[in-house]
Amino acid sequence: MPAATEYKFFEAVEKSFDKAAAFTNWDKGILEQIKQCNSVYRMNFPVKIGDQIEVIKAYRVQHSQHKSPSKGGIRFSLSVNLDEVMALSALMTYKCAIVNVPFGGAKGGICIDPKKYTPYELEKITRRYTSELIKKNFIGPGTDVPAPDYGTGEREMSWILDTYTSLRPGEVDALACVTGKPVSQGGVRGRREATGLGVYFGIREVCSMERLMNKIGLPTGVAGKRVIVQGLGNVGYHAAKFFREGGAKLIALAEYEGAIFNPEGLNEEEVFQYRKKTGSILNYPGAKNFEQSTDALEIECDILIPAALENVVNQENAPRIKAKIIGEAANGPLTPEADEIFIQKGILVVPDMYLNAGGVTVSYFEWLKNLSHVRHGRMEKRFTENMNTRILNQIENLTGKKVSKTEKDFILHGADEVDIVNSGLEETMITATREIIDCWFSNDKIPDMRTAAYIVAINKVATSYAELGIFP
Ligand code: NAD
Repeated sequence: MPAATEYKFFEAVEKSFDKAAAFTNWDKGILEQIKQCNSVYRMNFPVKIGDQIEVIKAYRVQHSQHKSPSKGGIRFSLSVNLDEVMALSALMTYKCAIVNVPFGGAKGGICIDPKKYTPYELEKITRRYTSELIKKNFIGPGTDVPAPDYGTGEREMSWILDTYTSLRPGEVDALACVTGKPVSQGGVRGRREATGLGVYFGIREVCSMERLMNKIGLPTGVAGKRVIVQGLGNVGYHAAKFFREGGAKLIALAEYEGAIFNPEGLNEEEVFQYRKKTGSILNYPGAKNFEQSTDALEIECDILIPAALENVVNQENAPRIKAKIIGEAANGPLTPEADEIFIQKGILVVPDMYLNAGGVTVSYFEWLKNLSHVRHGRMEKRFTENMNTRILNQIENLTGKKVSKTEKDFILHGADEVDIVNSGLEETMITATREIIDCWFSNDKIPDMRTAAYIVAINKVATSYAELGIFP
């Protein structure tokens, strides 16, 4: 595997962009504007850790502002650097465009190993980072709205919200300054599992397309397919759960300390609990160990889901990958060199910038909830249930037949917040998949699904820039 410093993530994103831009007719100036990162904030701030003062390095990059606010997660990891944050913020621009979420792209990162700090220390770091963002107007419901990413979750989003509301008292829409919050703090039901569920919806749609499946020699449908997931964090855990529930077989799970393999299938929740208890995924009963975690990526399977970090499949290991479909749940898990190898080998790569858009899609629903100050479904749930009861009663009276209790409960049920959120997500992922595939099949010179996804994104962002009247 090449050293991290050799891999230029932003350059890789630019390369994919250029490849796709060649299939469009947009003015060179517009394309150049889209590619650039509009605002880059690099900061160093001191935080007292024990008896020492540590200087913490952090970033927030707003790649685009053709729509407001900009949106993107915050990552806590030692691998965080400017190149990575710029690349991830660019991916956010394209991701939001593809799934029709009206945001610009942004990303943030703090260069720390969160495992080395106590919760109190992490809170101090997160709060200080937030106050730096506030000082420079890099956060706010209408300017830039962070969310969770690698190494962060609901807890960190709560700290961000609390810091924001303390420093900006009286802002009526303050709850919308960050998404991925706990439900008790203005979060939306369904956000926690959204990215993993979106990955499942996207791959399920791809697997339902006969023409695509014929191309790679697989039957349609998710059921029975052998799946490998790398990373049992927020995205990987939930993706694994929905694949198993959808009838697929989880044959291998990989974490950073190693991987386990069982051709009969694994249960992600049981493995998760086992790892919590023993501190490792290894030696899981009935499964074969892989001390070298990345070896699991090379096991024969139908669907490989890298859901940890970028650059895990590259020039070195790509020739040994035997999956038929690779679903990029993580951001940038494949290098451009690996991509080329998979195009040659006929492996279908379902690209990150739309496949993991479930998080930002449901973040959008959370932001809308915060701005409207009302829970999704509150206004119509009871009305729907009353109306459905009347309709069903009429049908039963007119036919003289009774509907079973289970069916009745299902039909009468008015939508709760989580039902609305999940159906909005399902609709978004299905529509985006179809749009990208239609674009891909519209021109046989388009080499892969990633290029098609970029073309769709470029067309949408360019239209938006052009319609803004920036380029007379
Ligand atoms: P997370 O921190 O919840 O989980 C990441 C998991 O990967 C952890 O369990 C970690 O131990 C594991 N891991 C780290 N290095 C590994 C290695 N070398 N091999 C195997 N496992 C390893 O992070 P997350 O939120 O699930 O994010 C994962 C990826 O998904 C990132 O690329 C992130 O940018 C992307 N993503 C996340 C979201 C979201 O809503 N959280 C949305 C879109 C994209």
